[in-house]
Amino acid sequence: MPIDGTHKLTERMLMKVEIDVDLCTGCGLCEETCPDIFKLNEDDDVAEIIKKDYDDNDEECIEEAIESCPTEAITTD
Ligand code: SF4
Repeated sequence: MPIDGTHKLTERMLMKVEIDVDLCTGCGLCEETCPDIFKLNEDDDVAEIIKKDYDDNDEECIEEAIESCPTEAITTD
């Protein structure tokens, strides 16, 4: 099944998480939900992405963070 494995890896590498800093209020919920991926930048008071190599567990966590963000500032493509 090397073809499936490669396909999955390619999809994962293409997944990109972004935070719209204009929408982010710095509430910290994403960091609370998914601390391996999101961190509140205390200088700017907005969230930032601290990990870019996601695994399957991270993806679940990211989805939770997206759903919990009150301003819909987190998006994936
Ligand atoms: Fe910003 Fe949304 Fe994270 Fe709150 S949950 S810090 S609004 S990105």
